[in-house]
Amino acid sequence: MNLKILLEKHLPMNSNATRGVKGDVLDDERRKDHYSHFILRLAFCRSEELRRRFVRAESMLFRMRFVTDTANERKEFVDSLDFDWENVSEEEKRKLYEELSAANGKPIDQEAFFKVDFTRVPDLVDGRRVYLRNGKAYVPVSAQISLVLQDFCLRLEKGLEMTARALPRLDEDDRLIPILNHLSLGFSAPEFVSDTTAIGEIKAAQVDELVQHFPLCMRNLHSSLRREKHLKYFSRLQYGLFLKGIGLSVEEALVFWRTAFSTITDDKFNKEYRYNVRHSYGLEGTRRNYKPYSCQQILTEHPPGPGDAHGCPYRTFSLENLTAAVEGMGIRDAQVLRTVKDAVKNRHYHVACTKVFETITSTSLAESINHPNLYFEKSVEIARAKKQQLEPAVE
Ligand code: SF4
Repeated sequence: MNLKILLEKHLPMNSNATRGVKGDVLDDERRKDHYSHFILRLAFCRSEELRRRFVRAESMLFRMRFVTDTANERKEFVDSLDFDWENVSEEEKRKLYEELSAANGKPIDQEAFFKVDFTRVPDLVDGRRVYLRNGKAYVPVSAQISLVLQDFCLRLEKGLEMTARALPRLDEDDRLIPILNHLSLGFSAPEFVSDTTAIGEIKAAQVDELVQHFPLCMRNLHSSLRREKHLKYFSRLQYGLFLKGIGLSVEEALVFWRTAFSTITDDKFNKEYRYNVRHSYGLEGTRRNYKPYSCQQILTEHPPGPGDAHGCPYRTFSLENLTAAVEGMGIRDAQVLRTVKDAVKNRHYHVACTKVFETITSTSLAESINHPNLYFEKSVEIARAKKQQLEPAVE
């Protein structure tokens, strides 16, 4: 189920702007949110894997709330934190309206600004994307989401580590520990169900042109396949299930893999590979209908060995190779590349992937990328909407 719908049902959070009419409701919502967050901190602080999963889920929630807040609420929120950024007052914004709009490339009525030492944002300065005055750069809030998100993740990680250190004191409490254990065992991130109707059924011959909508993990698998004319087992599985999720039928999958493995004979293909393709569509063996892998599965299961192309490149590539791969996706902006590298250094792979998606599509996402098929579907959806805007309406 869509995260937004789940939240509206189980954890609604009305905006502060509705306080006049919903005061009591707002307080209840915030109380519930605080209780659940801190109970989950206790449940998810005890191992690196649990902490990682919790930070990923919380950062998705945080991001969704942050981007859907009003500009005023975002500003108030950032004000309440101890960031080393100075807010630009409304009065100053009005005074510098022309200059800020020119640097921003559009009117700034709905935009809030921070002032930071210009040395802290050299790439924004290089790209002339900020207004400079008295040694300060005036940075729009919209350019800060990645920085805010990273700071959020770092603070949460530190908080979880501190909680983990304090937790042994609860070890003798036989009421709380079983509940916390049960909570973390029962955790499963909201499952993304790929929508093969996003573009309908696709043909084997269309895959090459659709690569532009693939996340880096699938682009890497695709280019390895084209280069080597072969993929090893887990790489075939990760890529094959992804293609199944975007609408490749079993018949077309057989055509796709047969054509791709161009250096082997039909006989070898039929003996060694045909069964596996049909198996992943639930037509052989246990007849299980396998689903495309989520980012979490890709990040944690079957670590790639030599000669493998599967896994998440944000995790498996060296920083140098990753930078080259991201540049190969058309991203040259030094600020974006640095944000991606910082996210990767902090092991926030989905943050890096989301940043790349947002840069390529020039669109802000309300939720982080947590599934390669989600990346694909959103990318297709955005491209389609842009195309419709360009096409004149038919009378
Ligand atoms: Fe693929 Fe997910 Fe890694 Fe992005 S974060 S490259 S979608 S595994």
